[in-house]
Amino acid sequence: MNAHRVWAEVDLDAVTRNLAVIRRRAGPQTRIMFVVKADAYGHGAVALAHHALRCGVGALGVGSSAEALELRASGVRAPILVLGTLIDDEMDECLRNDVHMALHSSDRRAKLQELSKRLGLKAKLHLNIDTGMGRLGVLPHRAIELMREVKQSGHLELAGVMTHISAPDGALAASTHEQQRLFEGVLREGREQRLLSGWIHMANSAALFTDLRPRYDTVRPGISAYGVMAADMPGVDELSPAMSLRSQVVFLKDIPQGYAVGYSSTWRAPRPTRIATLPLGYNDGVPWRVGNKAEVLVRGRRAPIVGRVSMDYTTIDVGHIGGVQVGDVVTIIGRDGHESISAEEIAAHAGTIGYEVTCHVGKRVKRVYTGGTELVLPAMPPAALPQRWSAPAAPMRNP
Ligand SMILES: *Cc1c(COP(=O)(O)O)cnc(C)c1O
Repeated sequence: MNAHRVWAEVDLDAVTRNLAVIRRRAGPQTRIMFVVKADAYGHGAVALAHHALRCGVGALGVGSSAEALELRASGVRAPILVLGTLIDDEMDECLRNDVHMALHSSDRRAKLQELSKRLGLKAKLHLNIDTGMGRLGVLPHRAIELMREVKQSGHLELAGVMTHISAPDGALAASTHEQQRLFEGVLREGREQRLLSGWIHMANSAALFTDLRPRYDTVRPGISAYGVMAADMPGVDELSPAMSLRSQVVFLKDIPQGYAVGYSSTWRAPRPTRIATLPLGYNDGVPWRVGNKAEVLVRGRRAPIVGRVSMDYTTIDVGHIGGVQVGDVVTIIGRDGHESISAEEIAAHAGTIGYEVTCHVGKRVKRVYTGGTELVLPAMPPAALPQRWSAPAAPMRNP
């Protein structure tokens, strides 16, 4: 018997293997900042963060102060960076909980200096340079000035310098190399003016898998650790998807030819058939748009979703599969026998990306963790890394 209407099985051994692949690509000396924003892309941030830290990850990246505090409250002591930006009300708690913050404006720097001074603390800031993402980050020509302001503020520490890549295919895109050229320019000037300090980071999963060089001393993979990547990405076949989304048949009904199923009667049975109803809908992570498009797995075989996906329920045609019973496990994402369905496959039917599919696995879906007892400790501990980064490549050596 299955205890849950809907559950997401998260295979921690898959995460271990993916982290080992990431470690190999990053090299033994590089700090891995594992990105666990959006509740670890729907996988559960607390569980994933603790597991990844045991696998040798050196830092965590999150999307908001609340996510950082959730990890701190769960006992995470490793460095945590809020990758994007903060609203003013988040600064206090980040400071008190030793959470690193990205910085991209003079105004924010002034506020942080004032607040840190009042609290008697030192803020750890990562200067985010916008080299082409066009979203957050200071433009390159303002970066050095901001670095100097940080250096001159007694309660601020430049804990890192970062940029973010806009192309989904990393080093395969010309724009990424242009972004890197701009980033290098800022790094060079910062080094010349002796303002540079802390971690240097640029690479996300796509950059790692397309082997963007240099990687600097820290990389920020997210999606690859969860094993969800576009099928045409080099090396993607080494990754294992960590999440399976499963449910069970709660009702079976034989319907005659021409009978309509679901809201707006968008599907009518082309022949007499058997409809199975599943107790999960778009609130649980089956995108509304996959109605009449995607398939699920029952008894190791594919069954089409028929009719619209509703908030709590999804209907599938199982007329071609013998012996289906109430209580049978249904796999929306994952493997069943020889068949498997990836988050990317669902995403393609929904006109979206794999990231959104796992992020949208809903709150009421129970996360069930498996594995996680066998760990790899694939590299030197990050604490042993030199505090100050010095580049290996000749043109980038410190003066
Ligand atoms: C989400 C995010 C990442 C991780 O990207 P993936 O494509 O999931 O590897 C890295 N850096 C920043 C700033 C991010 O916001």
